[in-house]
Amino acid sequence: MQDLTKLWSRGIAEMAPYVPGEQPQGGGWIKLNTNENPYPPSPQAVAAMTRAVQERLPLYPDPQSLELRQVLSRRFRVPVESTFVGNGSDEVLAMAFRAFFQREGDILFPDVTYSFYPVYARFWGIPFRAIPLREDFSIAAEDYAGPAAGIIFPNPNAPTAAPLALAQVEALAAAHPDCVVLVDEAYVDFGAESAVPLLERYPNVLVCQTFSKSWALAGLRVGFALGHPTLISGLERVRDSFNSYTLDRVAQAGAAAALQDEAWFQKTCGRIMATRERFVAGLKRLGIDVLPSAANFVFAAHPTLSSRELLEALRARKILIRAFKGPRLERHARITIGTDNEMDAVLKALEEL
Ligand SMILES: *Cc1c(COP(=O)(O)O)cnc(C)c1O
Repeated sequence: MQDLTKLWSRGIAEMAPYVPGEQPQGGGWIKLNTNENPYPPSPQAVAAMTRAVQERLPLYPDPQSLELRQVLSRRFRVPVESTFVGNGSDEVLAMAFRAFFQREGDILFPDVTYSFYPVYARFWGIPFRAIPLREDFSIAAEDYAGPAAGIIFPNPNAPTAAPLALAQVEALAAAHPDCVVLVDEAYVDFGAESAVPLLERYPNVLVCQTFSKSWALAGLRVGFALGHPTLISGLERVRDSFNSYTLDRVAQAGAAAALQDEAWFQKTCGRIMATRERFVAGLKRLGIDVLPSAANFVFAAHPTLSSRELLEALRARKILIRAFKGPRLERHARITIGTDNEMDAVLKALEEL
């Protein structure tokens, strides 16, 4: 048999792609492995998407996603020119790496963080330095001193769920006026402080958020960035150089309608945070170490089982969580916050173990 990988371009064989969390087929799973929202999206978003499907699908969508960006502009009190949307924040991040980080020198991000960052960096040929988290798994702004081609971190961090105070984010932005400081706020709505108020004073800050977690629309694939219009036009140049229609009509309509249902958003986020506090208390009662969480997941260490063993034991009970490798992480598991019933089932399983 002939080796057809010889048909690949240079570099494809050496790639180490990101591996997304398992999406099990069939029912009956308690799915706490990819930080999705356990509640449905706003009914208004569902209605808007149904209308979009029925109305104008033969026509291309608005390549500028103007209506959605106007809603973003109003909600976050930034000019429309300061908004950018993409097919999930993963795509926005990939474009941001190309638009801002392919420069002289290394970009910096935490050593324990979203594992897509090193994948994007290698994909675009961007050298990077991973800055170790402190002993308590926190990010310390002063560890990022010195020259940098760019800085990126999630706030709260993933998978630790630890928030970074706004003053620390500001310190990073102030210390690095000559590169983009990208704050990935995928989980910010569950209890961290957003960097959006910094945008007016720090043109080098880019904030990225997503509809996948707090807005319960992971299946729709919508993410967005907020920042100085010059940063936004850098992103638009990248986008329009390979796909000008990244958001379809259904996605634009659904995201815009969801954003306008603040009551639904507040109610579901509030529920998840309340469940998280109950679950954390339950874990502590069982003697399981858990870091304070400002996200819709917790980072917990079982006293005797490795996270791999814990994952297998829970998997046998049809509960999915995420395990980690590496010397500092092998005891830590990441568990998404689901409904109260789902988390009670996890606590019960842990008690049996
Ligand atoms: C989930 C997640 C994203 C990606 O979200 P999508 O909008 O679904 O692509 C980005 N960053 C972090 C840290 C995440 O956990």
